[in-house]
Amino acid sequence: MSGIDRLREHADDCDDCRSRPLAIDRIDAVLASSRVDVDSAALSRHAFAAVRPVLHTAAIPHFWRRVAAVVAVTLVPLPAILAYDTVLLRGLHMVASTLLPGTMATYVVFTYASMWLLLFAASYASIPILMARNAPRPS
Ligand SMILES: [Zn+2]
Repeated sequence: MSGIDRLREHADDCDDCRSRPLAIDRIDAVLASSRVDVDSAALSRHAFAAVRPVLHTAAIPHFWRRVAAVVAVTLVPLPAILAYDTVLLRGLHMVASTLLPGTMATYVVFTYASMWLLLFAASYASIPILMARNAPRPS
């Protein structure tokens, strides 16, 4: 039921409206002729631009809590990985010691360990960057 039909129904039932009749047809004609054009896309853009700083401020603590949780989860297997790498590096040092002088073997193993350390550091440092890149973006 449209608004004008509800108004007619009320006017039929109401004693006040029956004693002083409303100009329902005139109201209906004015409502039918008047039209408000709303650009909903522009309205949405303006509303989002207005609330964007507030949303960003509210999202930052949530983002860092998620980063801390993900880093904590990724730290769980780290002791096992480091123990495995230690065994691997000792084996590499043993093999290198049979082929090279002791100092040279230590240098090779140290260089290899430094590369692993750099890879670990880069992996953990990339976690917040990857999470921020994969976060859903408003369209
Ligand atoms: Zn009335």
